[in-house]
Amino acid sequence: MISFYPGPSKIYPQVATYLQEAFDSGILSQNHRSEGFMELMDSTLRLVKNKLAVPADYEVFLVSSATECWEIIAQSFTQTGALHVYNGAFGKKWMEYDAAINSQVSGCAFSPEQLPVLDEVLQDSADHIICLTHNETSNGTYIPDTLLMEVRSRHSHLIAIDATSSMAGLNLPWTQADIWFASVQKCFGLPPGLAVLIVSPRAIAQAASIGERNHYNSFLFIRDNFLKFQTPYTPNTLGIYLLNRCAESIEPILMIDAQIRNRAETLYTFFEDLGLSPVVARQELRSPTVLAWHLEDQALKKLKELAKKNGIVLGNGYGPWKNNTFRIANFPAITDPEVEVLKTFLERAF
Ligand SMILES: *Cc1c(COP(=O)(O)O)cnc(C)c1O
Repeated sequence: MISFYPGPSKIYPQVATYLQEAFDSGILSQNHRSEGFMELMDSTLRLVKNKLAVPADYEVFLVSSATECWEIIAQSFTQTGALHVYNGAFGKKWMEYDAAINSQVSGCAFSPEQLPVLDEVLQDSADHIICLTHNETSNGTYIPDTLLMEVRSRHSHLIAIDATSSMAGLNLPWTQADIWFASVQKCFGLPPGLAVLIVSPRAIAQAASIGERNHYNSFLFIRDNFLKFQTPYTPNTLGIYLLNRCAESIEPILMIDAQIRNRAETLYTFFEDLGLSPVVARQELRSPTVLAWHLEDQALKKLKELAKKNGIVLGNGYGPWKNNTFRIANFPAITDPEVEVLKTFLERAF
């Protein structure tokens, strides 16, 4: 089966070897305060930083999931409140998780066809953290760098960005935000159970001034441990090992970014030539990593069944788009020949 599911998604094939290696190396039985573990952690953080071109003064942390990052940000980085700017199911869910922890949480929902206008909402919440979803996995939209640059240049707010379905696929404009995070079962091409959290010096200073240490995953507590290349609790050592080996083997992010964007362009054209319409009409807002397409109920059911018979897994619609869209992951672990198989299948199906 070839999976185009946008998470959990296709895993890099070399992971099969790395799994065996991890077992054979003995690292999985080692204590997380041992020399061996600390070396693994040190090297993993360096590799991630290097391959993803993260600025030298930003710090990298490993936690369990993107969902955990939502809570870490709500607990440890939020001084007075948060403003969630979203256009889809993941952005909305993040706001709901935040609202369960903080009282001053507000939302600014915008249409998937439009960029949000932030000036007015932001004036009313000068000390709130802004929460954005870089790539809205539910509807296939993403936020162009130009908008992030504009927000950054006009406002002094701390900015947190959920980049779960774009980190390790696109070259992210790191300095335009303070907190970035992603779980690894999307563009990293790894099994689930690990997330990468990347934090600016300014965000670290904010967390220090808030001083929150009430939780096992309070950011300051995590950071105390990471400065020693340790973790507060017994971590997902296997996940960290796989991330390490994969980060070593992949190309630098600038090259991956170019390949993903090129392939996305040809895919959008190909799908549209077949008569399909994307969920987002505006080209500059269409995600290069998750492509979402309209298809009415009955036709969608048939297509999915036919795909399955042909060894292809299409991504279901998500949230409000569940029954009338399907999604195609354009993640780095998916090869060009696999994309050709998908195209040939769709050409015959339509
Ligand atoms: C998949 C996804 C999540 C959830 O990731 P978990 O690892 O399940 O916590 C959050 N945000 C976005 C944008 C996603 O695509």
